[in-house]
Amino acid sequence: MARGTWRVGLAGAAVGLLLLAVVVLRSGASSTRLTFLAVGQGDCAVFQHAGATVLIDAGPLTDTFDAGERIVAPELGRLGVETIDLVLLSHPDSDHVGGLPALARRFPIGRVVIPAVFREHAEMGRVLKEAGIAMDRVSWLDGRLVLGVGRFTLRLDGPPRGTPLENDNDGSMFVHLSGDGGTALFTGDAGFEGELRMLRRGGGWKAEVLKAGHHGSRTSTGMSLLRASAPRFVVFSCGRSNRYGHPSEATLGRVKAHSAAVVRTDREGSVTFVPSRTGFRRE
Ligand SMILES: [Zn+2]
Repeated sequence: MARGTWRVGLAGAAVGLLLLAVVVLRSGASSTRLTFLAVGQGDCAVFQHAGATVLIDAGPLTDTFDAGERIVAPELGRLGVETIDLVLLSHPDSDHVGGLPALARRFPIGRVVIPAVFREHAEMGRVLKEAGIAMDRVSWLDGRLVLGVGRFTLRLDGPPRGTPLENDNDGSMFVHLSGDGGTALFTGDAGFEGELRMLRRGGGWKAEVLKAGHHGSRTSTGMSLLRASAPRFVVFSCGRSNRYGHPSEATLGRVKAHSAAVVRTDREGSVTFVPSRTGFRRE
């Protein structure tokens, strides 16, 4: 009898440990992760921390493929996302904002931040309307904005209103993410000129993880940006055998010359980074 009781006690302890493990696993799933989604030729990254979800671009929409519906929404579901608290849209190109309407149909969306230089942009307005996002939920970023998300800081930087732009790419918002165990930098599709203009605005740009500008085009991710950010990983978000030839050999060469590891969503699929004592590391 005593032995039986002991057995029950042991079984109880084992169940307790198992429950604890499940709880730890659950909280692990909702802990800090930065995931670059393999959305083909376009951008979409999701940062999860302290129960909050921040989306940096929304994936591409083409005539034949809606990455928001087909890739981003299911991947967010897999990552345990129920609400998208903040959407940061770098610039209005369809390979960055096209997936938003499909996501808005599936998830409640808190706030959307867009560079103020695109306030009158027809395509931007059309996408917001199609997504059913009311203007009072949109913040037009005029210069710099610093946000706290748990133990992380998001520094958003967009060209001040009235900045003359060569093209939409150079109006891209920069997003610098820094906090407990990780730093990352996103530059949208900015080219060399946009990168230099942003670097001249000052602020720390160091980041273990740098998203290559403009999917690895040869006129983005210049030496100055690589020196300022000193990344350990450079993530290229691009489509398999895309017609633009992204990422370019020239950019891959610059990244390798900086001893950073090349990470490609076209070859590796979605890629996740988690914090560590030495900064973001691959999961
Ligand atoms: Zn793009």
